[in-house]
Amino acid sequence: MSDTATAPPRRPTTGPQMTIDGRSVGTETTITVVNPSTGRSFAEVPACTPAILEMAVGGADAAFDSWSAMPITTRRDLVGQALDRIDAATDELARLLTLEQGKPLVNARSEVQSGLRFSRAFGDMSLAPEVVVDDDTQYIEIQRVPLGVVAAITAWNYPVMLALLKIAPALIAGNTVVVKPSPYTPVATLRLGELLADLFPPGVLQVIGGDDEIGRKLTGHPQIAKISFTGSVATGRAIMAAAAPTLKRLTLELGGNDAGIVLNDFDAQAMGESLYWAALSNNGQVCAGLKRLYLPRSLADDVCDRLAQIAGTVTVGDGMAEGTQTGPVQNRVQLDRVRELLDDALSHGAQVVYQGDVPDGDGFFFPITIVRGVAEGVRLVDEEPFGPVLPVLIYDDLDDVVRRANDSDYGLGASVWTSDSDAAQDVAKRLQAGTVWVNRHPHLTPEAPFGGVKQSGLGVESSRYGLQAYTDSKVLNIKRS
Ligand code: NAD
Repeated sequence: MSDTATAPPRRPTTGPQMTIDGRSVGTETTITVVNPSTGRSFAEVPACTPAILEMAVGGADAAFDSWSAMPITTRRDLVGQALDRIDAATDELARLLTLEQGKPLVNARSEVQSGLRFSRAFGDMSLAPEVVVDDDTQYIEIQRVPLGVVAAITAWNYPVMLALLKIAPALIAGNTVVVKPSPYTPVATLRLGELLADLFPPGVLQVIGGDDEIGRKLTGHPQIAKISFTGSVATGRAIMAAAAPTLKRLTLELGGNDAGIVLNDFDAQAMGESLYWAALSNNGQVCAGLKRLYLPRSLADDVCDRLAQIAGTVTVGDGMAEGTQTGPVQNRVQLDRVRELLDDALSHGAQVVYQGDVPDGDGFFFPITIVRGVAEGVRLVDEEPFGPVLPVLIYDDLDDVVRRANDSDYGLGASVWTSDSDAAQDVAKRLQAGTVWVNRHPHLTPEAPFGGVKQSGLGVESSRYGLQAYTDSKVLNIKRS
């Protein structure tokens, strides 16, 4: 694989435009979006300017009063219609998603469909007032009131799913929204704005393109009431600081370095596939993917052999190609980072259990790699690799492995792999994470809140807790004589 493009540059086609106040808005300055499977540009989309950002936030602010005053049933109905439109456009959105993100088309389709499933679930959740006192002397109820303009900022690994998980609850709760996708993957999200442009009243849903700098301006904007952010811990910290001057509400879904602990009754033949995909689905670019695999010494050889055997059957290639199971790393910066972490681990004595091949060409492919012989203190173990490299660590003592798993600033997810449910629950209880899965990892569901502890985040998405996160509580307190 070469880092320099050898194929003739292909002129990118113009991609979708921004949607502001129900209108299509372009800019002279554009972002060039690269298809990671080919390394070549495939679309140009507008880069929001500070002046246009003012229009977007100002328009969303102006729309807030009437949108929030609408009955929730009307808002739910409009969001439902939006989801129907997106559903009807699944194939188009999935294709754009594969071209910009790299994931196989089948996974892009399921990303769109999962986003819809999670979003529809918000429509059935109640934000009705809760009466806490109702007697002869007083009446007290807790209402849930919307916040204002929400800035929804997303990462490049699941752009459509992440955007939908923010847009649907924010709008149902009565907020207006300005969405800013990652500059690496803005296309499907901008298209989503276009699909909905004439559905909502102007200003209710604004979709802009832009880089980190426009993200900074958006999150520092005084008219933004809440920031719902999915991305790295470093950016999460910057956003928390940007929120401080006007005390913006925050939901921060940040990085993870999830430990998976295999117990000594694990059946590698039966469960190997689940364990493999826990670590390496979406090419390892999953916030709550299994990123540190802890094996008991007695099973280490067996489980490593099984994982290597499975890895050898995986078809790596262009996400648009039939049969592809794993695509490229999404961008070159990330590709270089994965390479750097693996090289560092090898220089610290890591032994390669498996290393696959990559397709020829200029795509951002990195070979699927499983290593052992590493421990904490090596960057590949301590940091989030976010790519197709899995470190396997050996343990001898259960208490010790729980301590090692918890010895991290991250706390997004974790997993225990065993058929002994008492042992699983005992270990799960001691792991510091927003979710602990048993015999799977990750598994998100609209009924359960998803979020991280420690530096993996603040607040949750999904479930009624995720919906409530787009509201403040307001108490109505009446004295009765
Ligand atoms: P990133 O933090 O670099 O960027 C995310 C978004 O923030 C982009 O839209 C970017 O333009 C914007 N941004 C960057 N700097 C900003 C700033 N100072 N102010 C405002 N916005 C800014 O993250 P990434 O590389 O796109 O995504 C990968 C990371 O996201 C990984 O750490 C991954 O674990 C995490 N992630 C977390 C979850 C979760 O739910 N917890 C889900 C997906 C990804």
